[in-house]
Amino acid sequence: MSKTMPAVVFHGEGRWSVEKAPQPVLESPDDVLLEVDRAGICGTDLHILETPPGHPATPGAILGHEYVATVAEIGSNVANLAPGDRVVIDPNLTCGNCSACRQGRTNGCENMTTLGIFRNGGLAKLNVAPAKALHKISSEVAPEKAALAEPLSCVLHAFEKAPILPGESIAILGGGPIGLLFLLLFRNAGASAVYVVEPGATRREMARKCGADAVFDPGAADLKAAIGASSGKGVDLVVDAVGRCFADAIGLVRPGGRILLFGMDQTSAPVTSPYEITRREITVIGSFIQRTSFPKVVRILEAGRLPVEKLITHQLPLAEFGKAIELLGQGQGVKILLEP
Ligand SMILES: [Zn+2]
Ligand SMILES: [Zn+2]
Repeated sequence: MSKTMPAVVFHGEGRWSVEKAPQPVLESPDDVLLEVDRAGICGTDLHILETPPGHPATPGAILGHEYVATVAEIGSNVANLAPGDRVVIDPNLTCGNCSACRQGRTNGCENMTTLGIFRNGGLAKLNVAPAKALHKISSEVAPEKAALAEPLSCVLHAFEKAPILPGESIAILGGGPIGLLFLLLFRNAGASAVYVVEPGATRREMARKCGADAVFDPGAADLKAAIGASSGKGVDLVVDAVGRCFADAIGLVRPGGRILLFGMDQTSAPVTSPYEITRREITVIGSFIQRTSFPKVVRILEAGRLPVEKLITHQLPLAEFGKAIELLGQGQGVKILLEP
């Protein structure tokens, strides 16, 4: 009989449990056995657990796609890692052979699969991942900071697609972990003003602590006046970190400015009139996960450049996954990490 370990297993249609799952073993010479140090819960996990689900996942899979781990054992082909190394994980596994991969657009891979969504992930004591998914990081980086590598890699990819110059102004729509990572990055890049628009009072307060110049409720009467949009101006860049705010973004951006679409919501309503975009020459940029950001994220975290730990509101044992989901559902947590 195989040994067991505690794990958060998805069972389809809003069902999950913390249960004893078989301990994984190396199956391919390219595999690495990982001992998970911390795993974060993300908005995608909440979407997976909704009924009907807002995001697909494979029933029977162990959840958790944002995690940091220590190498326990390596397959015979693995040359660049050794037991004891600390690694962060790029959970999106790409094929390298499809036309998107061959164009260098690996985030558009036609055969992509994801650890923690379609294959077993990091909400468990142990996990097996291919060596190509792993990026070594100094063990001097606290595991709770390193646990933010995956969401930060997606934010950095988006930043590279819609960079800012020192002195520019930005409005971020959505003050969850992603919105706040954008805020930290824009602050670091010399933004003159960063505004955060967020309905939750706890998250607005968090945004203020992370360096927002002003925070607003989406319905606030003073929002447009405060950022100059009511007088036909507005901010240089608007980030939709929610996935439902394209129309709002058009109302806040200056003529000739940029809108970055980052959040994803399959149910968001289409924006019907392109007139404003054409007439005011707005540039719209979409960004999806990442391609080459992980090595840069590792350097940012190792250099201690971004105070990403400010986002962490709770660290709980793995068994309290249900409590974590509840806290996030009530808008009480921002980034919650679990310790297996
Ligand atoms: Zn995620
Ligand atoms: Zn591919």
